[in-house]
Amino acid sequence: MNRVLALVERLRDRFGERAVVTDRDAIAPWLTDWRGRWTGAAEALLQPGSTEDVAAMVAAAREAGVALVPQGGNTSMVGGATPPADGSALILSLRRMNRIRAIEPASRSALAEAGVILQTLHEAANHEGLRFPLTLGARGSATIGGLVSTNAGGTQVLRFGTMRGLVQGIEAVLPDGTVHDGLSGLKKDNRGTSLDQLLIGAEGTLGIVTAARLRLVPAVAARAVAWLGLASPHAALDTLRALEAATDRIEGFELVPDESLQAALSEIEGTRAPLAGAHAWHVLVEATAASPAEEAPEALLERLLAPLLASGLVEDATIAASESQAEAFWRIRDSLSEAEKKAFGPATQHDLSVPVERMPTFLAEASAAVEAAFPGTRASGFGHLGDGNIHFHVRAMARGRPGWIDHEGPAVTRLVDDLVTAAGGSISAEHGIGQMKRDELARLDPARVATLKAIRAALDPGGLMNPGKLT
Ligand code: FAD
Repeated sequence: MNRVLALVERLRDRFGERAVVTDRDAIAPWLTDWRGRWTGAAEALLQPGSTEDVAAMVAAAREAGVALVPQGGNTSMVGGATPPADGSALILSLRRMNRIRAIEPASRSALAEAGVILQTLHEAANHEGLRFPLTLGARGSATIGGLVSTNAGGTQVLRFGTMRGLVQGIEAVLPDGTVHDGLSGLKKDNRGTSLDQLLIGAEGTLGIVTAARLRLVPAVAARAVAWLGLASPHAALDTLRALEAATDRIEGFELVPDESLQAALSEIEGTRAPLAGAHAWHVLVEATAASPAEEAPEALLERLLAPLLASGLVEDATIAASESQAEAFWRIRDSLSEAEKKAFGPATQHDLSVPVERMPTFLAEASAAVEAAFPGTRASGFGHLGDGNIHFHVRAMARGRPGWIDHEGPAVTRLVDDLVTAAGGSISAEHGIGQMKRDELARLDPARVATLKAIRAALDPGGLMNPGKLT
């Protein structure tokens, strides 16, 4: 019997069928990534119910020399949680560890196990008049362990930062099976390099996150969502800077090119143009208030936008008149990828960042460079302008070019990644590296990869934690 099957049998005897699933139909949904781009194989899906069980499973796998692929909600955009195709690894799913151990209003923090789904945490915090201020489109599936391990971002980063800034401590099983307990919530702790920070964004290569202590903020008492029409990304950035100079209550600032808006209006049922006139670019702005004592967000936005409209920096603006209209504005933003895919066909997708001030120029120059190098393509981007993070898409507008992504996609990606690197940016702003960007990271940043490999080899000499991802 090979060592993978022998380990599965041993674990099954010890932990039972609920924790060691071998039924092929039950495993199948977890073998393919969210985008449907990679499919792997695994003899078993391990589903531990406690930190002690994770530690015992990791120790047993290490002894047997069998690799483990940690998995949460499997919403990775870069194939990060998909096992290798040769069946040499087992999936270690944290989804059964889904207890919120505590919501602590006094310290404004939550203690959540790795398998807690983001939306569940939102609801639990809200129940206590608090909020976990990170959200993203996959909030109904993505888990705390996955969010920590990818240092996830989302639409509220502008005000509250990424996971790295929201995690106050981590409990994790290290590759040798020992448990790191960083959950005590110390405000000050200078015992050398932070193991918590080392684990954030490590994509499961340095250990299994089993729980996290997370920062909470007061719940939103009111919000206002505005839709602006502008001439250019430069005008959008000037608008953001003007708003930020006057208030720290801007939470969302999402840039949308007109062609993406038009795609949403034609392809997504029930969407309506927020503004009557035509504009080359658009921005969705969200402002919030944590208490009724603060100036109402609508009044705040009206007051701050008035001079920008008068000066012509903002061509037109409307503030959602109701919560359902606010949701309708966000729906347009959230459906852009789907709308573009339906309207324009497949695209190469680049989750990139450059220093915020450089983004407007980068967008113009990179689009022109890509379109010149690959005639017949169209490049544009939308997303988190305030974070310097744009989802940059390159598509073959002539729909009669089937398979162009397979032929030209890698060359397009290399060009975009070269342009990002030359602009001092990152080829992965928030989705991570996974298996999708591993080769490009090695090509463009060998020094970083060598260091990451050295850290990985020190903690996991057998290379058994999420092999084939990140480095
Ligand atoms: P998985 O996909 O299961 O795993 C992700 C990575 O983390 C893998 O490398 C996995 O091995 C590792 N991992 C998972 N759990 C653990 C653990 N407990 N311990 C150690 N390693 C672990 N991301 C953003 O940042 N911003 C966005 O705005 C955003 N929007 C999205 C919208 C949609 C519709 C979708 C499908 C995805 C989006 N994502 C976004 C990507 C994705 O949701 C995030 O990367 C999320 O953090 C993944 O969580 P998960 O639980 O699904 O992790």
